[in-house]
Amino acid sequence: MLQPIGLLGCRAGYRQVLNTPGAARQPGIMTETKKIALVTGANKGIGRYVAQQLAEAEVTVLAGSRDVTRGQSTVDELVGDVRLAVLDVTDAASIAAVAKQIEEDFGRLDILVNNAGISSGVALPSEENLDDLRRTYEVNVFGVVAVTNALLPLLRRSEAPRIVNVSSGLGSFAVMQRVDERYGEFNAISYQTSKAALNAVTVMYAKELRDTAFKVNAISPGYRSTELGGVKPEDKPGAGDPAEGALSVTRLALLDDDGPTGEFHLDTGGLCPW
Ligand code: NAP
Repeated sequence: MLQPIGLLGCRAGYRQVLNTPGAARQPGIMTETKKIALVTGANKGIGRYVAQQLAEAEVTVLAGSRDVTRGQSTVDELVGDVRLAVLDVTDAASIAAVAKQIEEDFGRLDILVNNAGISSGVALPSEENLDDLRRTYEVNVFGVVAVTNALLPLLRRSEAPRIVNVSSGLGSFAVMQRVDERYGEFNAISYQTSKAALNAVTVMYAKELRDTAFKVNAISPGYRSTELGGVKPEDKPGAGDPAEGALSVTRLALLDDDGPTGEFHLDTGGLCPW
């Protein structure tokens, strides 16, 4: 079942830097009974709100950021048990270091939110630059598989492992085929096909893990006022509040044992067509 999550009841927590040279460890502070979550790309945008909402739900949150300074600044502003995990999803060494650190500090992972994503532009297929296509896939598709595979051994140790892949309605074949007023001119090959691939990746993992306690789902968080694609939030007319989009991600991260797996959800509730 999809559960509403509370936004109140935050409590102050301690912070710890993961994968940062010289970072002070806090041995003895283990949170075995609390859920442990990693949110990639949590230094801003939707991921930042997901990190905050999970912390408010009493989850220990490892907020992923590829930049130490930007990540630490976000972690300092968030309330709850939120710690920085320096993580570039395109960098194998960075992924391995975070997995090792989580293993040492917690011995398991309960929730993985593959949120980090980029849009390298809105080029038509005939005008696409292959470098942009590759760059987009490196983050939106290959990064998700690399992070997921590195963390699967830790997720397998959880009683209720959850993987949420932050996709987009623009990755829906049904949406891609629309030629109406809203979507008629929109045909951004790199971003849209990368999210379609991510949806397929979601189905593949859910299928492999179908006889386990895992729940693996994709979410379309809706059109949100963030810096995705290098566009300023104020230059996105009609875009919604990223915190609201994040709520739909957080709900899937906190799914009950009888919740769905292998599905593509809408931020507004219900399913997004593949
Ligand atoms: P955003 O504000 O641009 O945030 C993207 C996040 O991903 C940032 O933290 C960014 O870090 C991180 N990131 C980018 N490349 C990375 C890498 N190689 N390794 C680790 N982190 C990386 O965009 P957003 O709108 O919140 O997007 C979050 C997710 O929602 C994305 O997957 C996006 O496709 C999806 N989505 C967004 C919308 C929307 O309208 N906003 C709609 C549908 C789906 P830096 O700050 O270092 O760049």
